[in-house]
Amino acid sequence: MREHEAAVRALRQTVADLHTELTRYDLVTWTAGNVSARVPGADLMVIKPSGVSYDDLGPESMVVTDLHGELVEGDFAPSSDTAAHAYVYRHMPEVGGVVHTHSSYATAWAARGEPIPCVLTMIADEFGGDIPVGPFAMIGDDSIGRGIVETLRENRSSAVLMRSHGPFTVGKDARAAVKAAVMLEDVAKTVHFAYQLGTPEPIDRASVDRLHERYQNVYGQ
Ligand SMILES: [Zn+2]
Repeated sequence: MREHEAAVRALRQTVADLHTELTRYDLVTWTAGNVSARVPGADLMVIKPSGVSYDDLGPESMVVTDLHGELVEGDFAPSSDTAAHAYVYRHMPEVGGVVHTHSSYATAWAARGEPIPCVLTMIADEFGGDIPVGPFAMIGDDSIGRGIVETLRENRSSAVLMRSHGPFTVGKDARAAVKAAVMLEDVAKTVHFAYQLGTPEPIDRASVDRLHERYQNVYGQ
């Protein structure tokens, strides 16, 4: 823990700040939703405390756990979704950030158990295809984490809609996972509207591949 002190301090601030994005984009209500970040090079993560109001979240209220969800540092109990985040970090070494929300449109797709089809360039860019549905899983053991990992391994997507529950998103860091959560809700809403008007057209696989490749490797700074 000591050798990672500076990294943990910085991530406490980063993870606290990123929670304000969940409220800014209207992805959460009450105390639901959480962001976590892996501490690079350590078997540790920084995550939101359980049941603390978004208005009261600051760097000092963030919690540090190991990658089995055991408390390492912090004044509060970790988020009730800690086991799921920890499972993802243990099994997906490329993931540096995890986000969970019950954002309305994405969760409506999860309630229907229906993948969001890749009918927009933005979906191809960010998610590389249809946004998949994960299994129904009970809270309290590894089953949510296992469902997330099994579903994401079969897809390029950075988001999974856990059936009858809501979305989990991942990224190379916590900011990328938050961005995926924001973009997910945006496309979930737009595709919902598209279905009110008729049946949206899927993008062909070759174009999806080209868009995803370009966005992931060329786009941006
Ligand atoms: Zn949840």
